[in-house]
Amino acid sequence: MPELPEVENSIRDLKPLLVGRRFEGVDVRWPRLLSGMRAEDFTARLLGRQIINADRRGKHLLFALDDGQTLMVHLRMTGQLRVAPPDEPPTVYDHLIFALSDGMELRYQDPRKFGRFLLTTDPQQALAKLGPEPLSESFTPVVLFEKIQGRRAAIKGLLLNQSVVAGLGNIYADEALFQAGIHPQTPGEALTLADSSRLHSAIRQTLATAIREGGSTLGRSGIANYRRPNGVAGHYQERHRVYGRAGKPCLVCGGPIHRVQVAQRSTHFCPHCQPDGRAIQSD
Ligand SMILES: [Zn+2]
Repeated sequence: MPELPEVENSIRDLKPLLVGRRFEGVDVRWPRLLSGMRAEDFTARLLGRQIINADRRGKHLLFALDDGQTLMVHLRMTGQLRVAPPDEPPTVYDHLIFALSDGMELRYQDPRKFGRFLLTTDPQQALAKLGPEPLSESFTPVVLFEKIQGRRAAIKGLLLNQSVVAGLGNIYADEALFQAGIHPQTPGEALTLADSSRLHSAIRQTLATAIREGGSTLGRSGIANYRRPNGVAGHYQERHRVYGRAGKPCLVCGGPIHRVQVAQRSTHFCPHCQPDGRAIQSD
């Protein structure tokens, strides 16, 4: 959290509020977010620069600047970017505050402080290990099949591996595997081209629907609450069919949804709708 649909909604909301604006002030309140760069250097390289484009790759937000630099942001677990008027008091979780040339402020809020900012002149190199964009034409059933062929790791873990496909996290990996009827502990090498094909369409459908619904907002802990930059919550959580539903009846067969650990991540699935003889049941 946040995953591709949440980042996509963030970038769509932020783009009209940021493109054309210049950075007129940078207040770094938690320097560790800067990927090792000193706050003074980060500030010096940003001051006066104009944002000329806002884009997404995987779960990264990319802000292209007028001097060829790109400001890359990864929100990790609890990061959020929003635009606020300067007279609105910042919260204790606002760790980076950028004054913009139109008088507004871009604020980075992150209760757990796991997010990362990177200034680079070569974003392609920084993103070189990232797999295909799941909603692009470069992501095909054959590409997915080739990426997981010969891999013994569980398909759930492979989907979380950003070099197989970019942008999936715990929620949408579980939802896509359910829709494809594939057990999350199935080794990658056990999936056929037909399985890959089903999984490929399930990933695309799940992500496209989640983007349309504004992503998922989880009410649970308060700190994992994704909000769009305008403060609006997503609605896709109302459509989760397995994620966060352990013990509840499967919406297809009525049997209980199970939760197990796969690749150190809490994984939700229906053993009836997602059967796999080779998987080790550890519930
Ligand atoms: Zn079921």
